Amino acid sequence: MPGRADGAAPVRTCVGCRERRTQDQLTRIARRGDGSLAPGRTLPGRGAWLCRASPTCLDLAIRRGGFARAFRTSIDPAHVEELRTTLVDPADRSDIDFVPGVPPARN
Ligand SMILES: [Zn+2]
Repeated sequence: MPGRADGAAPVRTCVGCRERRTQDQLTRIARRGDGSLAPGRTLPGRGAWLCRASPTCLDLAIRRGGFARAFRTSIDPAHVEELRTTLVDPADRSDIDFVPGVPPARN
């Protein structure tokens, strides 16, 4: 049925705050073969989900062991710090489309 957007959207749980959200409100984190973490919806392997652009949730995930639980293995803190750098990199903000003076569209 065209135009049907509600009801069928897959919901994931943020590994930080444990809130359930739709995938477009979350960033998928994948664990690569070398153990490092990278954001990317299409990367293969087990994924963890974090609220988009939320350093707080990243911190919560570290403190609560959310990544270790999601990936079923312990995560090197160095890799988490690397991921933090990636997530806050201004060059990687193309999906955050904020125009000053215009209220951001929600849903
Ligand atoms: Zn969260």
